[in-house]
Amino acid sequence: MWTHRLIKSTYRKHILRAQRHALCRHFGAYSDTSLEALSLIIAEPPIHLSAVPRAAKYFLTKGKPLEADSLIAGLSTMDKFQRKETLYILWDQWLLSSDRGRAAKAIFPNIMERLKCNWVDPTGDTIRILSGHGPFETYLHDRTFSKHPNCPTDGLRDDPNHEVFDCFDVPDTVCDARKQVRSRSLSKAVRSKSDWLILSGALRPLIGCREAASRGLRQAQ
Ligand SMILES: [Zn+2]
Repeated sequence: MWTHRLIKSTYRKHILRAQRHALCRHFGAYSDTSLEALSLIIAEPPIHLSAVPRAAKYFLTKGKPLEADSLIAGLSTMDKFQRKETLYILWDQWLLSSDRGRAAKAIFPNIMERLKCNWVDPTGDTIRILSGHGPFETYLHDRTFSKHPNCPTDGLRDDPNHEVFDCFDVPDTVCDARKQVRSRSLSKAVRSKSDWLILSGALRPLIGCREAASRGLRQAQ
């Protein structure tokens, strides 16, 4: 019954910030990962939108849709399927209206594309790789945590695609996984269930060794 108040930007800002912190802590994501990226990768709508279909149901049950926001009132006349469709449209509009979460949006341009890949398990490592917020030299350099703007081994831009598919300086598990998959980019890999399941098994050793290296470097400085 408070959902229509969330649609106002002042309240929404506070509650979305709390949701982002809670998701970062729960999944162990980097604290500067945007809610847009988290929402896409975890496939969890922002709270001000996930509450809208429930609010519509509430006002429908109470028979007072006119007391609610016009959006909620509109939804209260729809069936369950239509309410879900509307939620996806609102979710996409919210993602499009922001310039945050660009790496995740490059992989999943909309929420339906993400939902199709239901084999993508949202772990902390998956979030690091698909959001680009992880122990990658280019990311760390942009935030002044590393002296290297590129991969120290080969001088190429050190982003998640480089780490997973191109870099030579990776654990054997990653090399073995590469040999077994046909995909050569994260965008393609997430869309192939078999490729993703093989690659996702190699993410922990990869992320683990990069995090250990960057921790060691910071301690030595
Ligand atoms: Zn490299």
